[in-house]
Amino acid sequence: MRVRITLACTECKQRNYNTTKEKKNHPDRLETKKYCKFCRTHTLHKETK
Ligand SMILES: [Zn+2]
Repeated sequence: MRVRITLACTECKQRNYNTTKEKKNHPDRLETKKYCKFCRTHTLHKETK
């Protein structure tokens, strides 16, 4: 059961990535370090709606 999610930078709040996740494996809000082109560095990205 894969669901589409959006990842937003926690620094500048830009939504940088669209991805999917397995809801069974990640019932909570996903957090991952990714490159943000607005911050021009790697920042923590959180799942948003
Ligand atoms: Zn950012």
